Formats: sequence, C-alpha cells, structure tokens
Amino acid sequence: MTIEQNIDTIRQRIQKACKLSGRATNEVRLLLATKTVNTERIKAAFRCGETLIGENKVQEVKMKHEALNEFPHEQHFIGHLQTNKVKEILKYDIQCIQSLDRLSLAEKLHHCLALNNKKIDVLIQVNTSEEESKFGIKPDEAVYFTKEVAKLNSLQIKGLMTIGLFSSDADKVRACFMRLKEVRQEIIEANISNIQMRELSMGMSGDLEIAIEEGATIIRVGTAIFGKRRYPDSYYWNEN
Ligand SMILES: *Cc1c(COP(=O)(O)O)cnc(C)c1O
Repeated sequence: MTIEQNIDTIRQRIQKACKLSGRATNEVRLLLATKTVNTERIKAAFRCGETLIGENKVQEVKMKHEALNEFPHEQHFIGHLQTNKVKEILKYDIQCIQSLDRLSLAEKLHHCLALNNKKIDVLIQVNTSEEESKFGIKPDEAVYFTKEVAKLNSLQIKGLMTIGLFSSDADKVRACFMRLKEVRQEIIEANISNIQMRELSMGMSGDLEIAIEEGATIIRVGTAIFGKRRYPDSYYWNEN
C-alpha cells in the first residue's frame, strides 16, 4: 500500500466514524504522527493535501525542519519534552505542544517564551489509562494543574490530549476517551479564565473510530499511514 492509498483509507474511516456519531467530518483533524518517518515520505503525505504533523523528539524536528519547509504546514509536538530541550524546540515553528504534563515544563516554556514576547498553544496531557509507564497528569489533578498553567500567559491552553490504553478490549479503550471528556467537563465547570477547552486530541491508528465517537477533535495517526516502525513505542514515550 502506498502512502496515498493509506491516507485515502484513513479519510474514509474518519468519514464513516463521523457519520455514525452524527458529527461533521471537518470537526476532526488528522495529525500525521511522523516519528521515524523520513522527509520524502512526509512530503508524499503533504502532496495528498495533509497539512498537520506531530513529532516526538526534538532531534527529529531539527533534522527534518529544513526539508519540510517548502510545504506550508503546521507542526505540533506530541512527545515527552525534557525541560532541557525547551530552548531548542522553541527555535522551530511549533504551533502547539500537545504533551504538557508537568508544572516545571510549563514554567520553563513560559520563561523562554516571555523573554521573546511569544506565545504558544498547549494541550494538557492526561494519563487516562493511569498506567505508571505513561506520562500525563492524573485525571484527579487536571483541574488544579490547568489553573496553575492558566497563570502563565505565554501558554494558551486549547484543550486536552491523551494516549488511550493499548488493549484489544474496546470498552477499556473507550473508558479512557470518556474519562478525557469528563475531565474536560470538570475543567469547563471550574470556570478558569483565559483558557479554551475546544480540543480533545485522542485516537491513533487502532482506535480512531472509538475516539471520534467520544468527541475527538484531533486524531494522531502514524502506523496506518506510514507502516510499522522499527522501534517499540516505549522508546518514544519514556524518558530518554
Ligand atoms: C506514535 C504516536 C501516535 C501514532 O500512533 P500509531 O499507532 O502509529 O498511529 C499517536 N500519538 C502519539 C503521542 C505517538 O507517539
């Protein structure tokens, strides 16, 4: 299967899932998860009309940056961001950090951005599966965390992100996405000023239909478009 064909298949899956849940197709944005994918293959996806990519490692953003510049596109950061890489990542044109998962990171981002009078969009990553191995704020702490981040005016909170449980049990996966929706509701009810709670970034190659049914506004797809990766995902999701 070519990248073109795979994108076509994903678009059909999105359309079908939207239709089934009575949502408009344009309510769901497709983000291409491009970790390990080379720039030629990413450009092939751009030629199909895709415009949003997400990387997990600062090093990969840096390596691919120049080659991808010829195509207008939007880039988000979706990986675990080490505090000592903040200065580096801000050199590239990242529109949104989807993986804001601790206050020390928020403070470092704010500090560096404020020095240059800049702002950035962020999503708060919530650990809805409550697995020790995954990053993200505990659902119970999300309201408090959001209040703290909202005080940092360089960070524009747009919503939430989660990685669902990896499980073949659809009910358990769905429970993660429902939890994210609940957390969003709790945050909305807390009436925190200067934040938006529009975005729910959830759903990947294997579970995007469930995520769309539960209200995803951004789905992040890698494997189903670019094929299997050489490294296990733990390599990308753990501290290294
Ligand atoms: C790799 C990755 C994805 C995409 O996963 P696939 O199963 O390959 O579609 C989504 N979100 C994050 C945070 C990722 O690291």
